[in-house]
Parts: sequence; structure tokens; C-alpha cells
Amino acid sequence: MANATLTIDLGALSDNWRSLDAASGDGVETGAVVKANAYGLGLARVARSLSETGVRSFFVAEVQEGVALRRALGDGPQIFVFSGHMDGDTDAIRKFELVPLLNSIEQMTRHFEALSGSPFGVQLDTGMNRLGLEPAEWDAARRIVLGQGPKLVMSHLACADEPDDPMNARQLQAFHDMTDGIDAPRSLAATGGILLGSDYHFDMTRPGVGLYGGLPFADAKPVVHLRVPIIQTRDVAPGEAVGYGASWLADEPARIATVQAGYADGLIRLMGDRTVMFAGDIPCPLAGRVSMDMLTVDITHLDEVPDHLVMLGTQQGVDDLADAARTIGYEILTSLGSRYDRSYI
Ligand SMILES: *Cc1c(COP(=O)(O)O)cnc(C)c1O
Repeated sequence: MANATLTIDLGALSDNWRSLDAASGDGVETGAVVKANAYGLGLARVARSLSETGVRSFFVAEVQEGVALRRALGDGPQIFVFSGHMDGDTDAIRKFELVPLLNSIEQMTRHFEALSGSPFGVQLDTGMNRLGLEPAEWDAARRIVLGQGPKLVMSHLACADEPDDPMNARQLQAFHDMTDGIDAPRSLAATGGILLGSDYHFDMTRPGVGLYGGLPFADAKPVVHLRVPIIQTRDVAPGEAVGYGASWLADEPARIATVQAGYADGLIRLMGDRTVMFAGDIPCPLAGRVSMDMLTVDITHLDEVPDHLVMLGTQQGVDDLADAARTIGYEILTSLGSRYDRSYI
């Protein structure tokens, strides 16, 4: 029996980057965020494809991801590291020519002492209270820091997926207050910020989830397709139960397909009976609880038993699954399991 197959459409990925690049506007560089194994889709394949499409600046969460990315891309592209320059990172930053986004006075001291003259950027906190220098710290450090020629001065929006949230304008104003008049390139927008409009674009944008087909980029092309083989089918009589907890009961004669993927493959238990799989265009609801390695699906209404059902594709995307599981597309993407056969088209 074949495994479930995860197909990653690199053409759609490139098209999504081009669309977000066009939305970022002329004269604005569009980077690409490939942290967390390119949101679960495979760092090396995704990054090489984006590099061929024209991406020159990549962003990762931590230095080890940067090392893997440099090995995949070779010399040339800029690789920014959101977590900055942590204790123990110095050798890798030097050897793999990574650009840490320094987040604190402590990191600045470490970087300027250990790697004086080597490239860096700065992350400012404009209200999210997660990473970056606060306004008072920036006031104290900015003259020295700007004298060292940062490659990028950036901040991150907390509510960019909600265009009407007043937090967006507050953070934009704070970013202006902290950075107007500096020479270094500036960046504020991820996917959501790009869609907020040109006021938010500055010199570089940093889309992640939109590249991979997720909201808030509603016009994204689907990048991820997941087809799952049927292992077995059975007919159940009225009154019979299906799955753990015997939670699904047939009230009429039903045909149940057992398919080969479960919560260990990232199909979250919580999505349970709010989820469907597709046989061609026909939705087939899950019947009973999600198991570790299997799902049971009601296919009573199909004329023929197919050899597989589709979980993700043009019919249903990562955000549909996310809604059913009460989470966000980002979590569905980054949870996609390691047991799938992966194919890149
Ligand atoms: C993850 C991340 C991004 C990308 O965000 P998306 O919403 O996926 O586009 C950009 N900037 C920072 C600082 C991030 O942590």
C-alpha cells in the first residue's frame, strides 16, 4: 500500500511570491521567510526554487536553520536570522555568513565584540513585546549602531491579519518615530503587512505564510496537495459504531473507508467531524475520531470506491482544515508529518 502523498507545487509557490512582490510595489525588495523548514514544506527545495524565482534575501528563525539554508543556496543570497546573535552562535554566523537581527543591547555587545565589522541588522519592538529593542534602548544605542551600517532595521506587526485593528497604525507610527531619517533599509511588513498597503512596505517586505498558500493572502494559489490512500472499506449496519470511543453511530446502512493518515501526520484530532475529504468534487465527511495513523471516512454516497481521498488541494486548503481544528493555517502547515511521501512539482 502506497503512503499518503504530499505534493508541493513549486510553481504555485513562485507565483505567490511574484504576486506578493508585485503587491509590495516598485523599489521595494521582497524577501522570503523560510523558518521552520519553510513552514513544513522542505527548506532546501523551497528556498532553491524561490532563489531561482528571484528572491535575494531570506529570513530564518535561528542560526541552525541559517546554516542549513546557506548549504542549500551557496554564496550570494542574504540570510537574516530573527533570533539574532545568541551565545554560541558566533562561529556559525561567521562561517556561513549569516546576518543576525540583533534584538538587545546584550546581543549588540556580543556581536560588535566578537564579529566587529561583520554584517548585522536590528530588530525594534514597536509594541508586540516579543523581540527587539524598546524605544528607550534604541535611543541609547542608535548612534553607535547606525554608525556600524546595519543591513536592515526591522520590526514586526502583531495584528496585521486584522486590517481594521488600530494596533497596526500605532505600530506604524512607532516605527516611523524610531526610524525616520536613518540611512539603513527598513522593513515592517510580513504577509499581512503587505496587504495593508504601501504605507507599511518601507524598503523590504518579509512574506512567509502567503508564499505557502495561507491566509491572510486570500488570493494565494494552493501550494500543498495531500492525497491519502484508502486501506480498507467496510459496510456498517444501523446502530454500529466507528472508531475510538465509539463516537460515530450509523443511523442508516453506511460504507466507511479507512485511510492512511492520522494525527501523527499532522491531521489534528480536534478537527474531527467538522472535516471532509474529497473524492473528486464530492465531499466525504470524517466518521468518528481521528486516530494516530488512520482516519475513517463516510463514503456511503459514492458510486464507486476510489483508491484515495484528497485532504488538501484546490477543493480545501490549509485554512479550511485550520478552521475545523480551531487553529490557524500556519499550524496546519508546520505540523504536516514526516511520513508522507513528498513530491515537488
Ligand atoms: C514569521 C515572521 C514573518 C513572516 O510572517 P508571515 O505572517 O508568515 O508572512 C515575518 N517577520 C517575522 C519577524 C516573523 O517572525
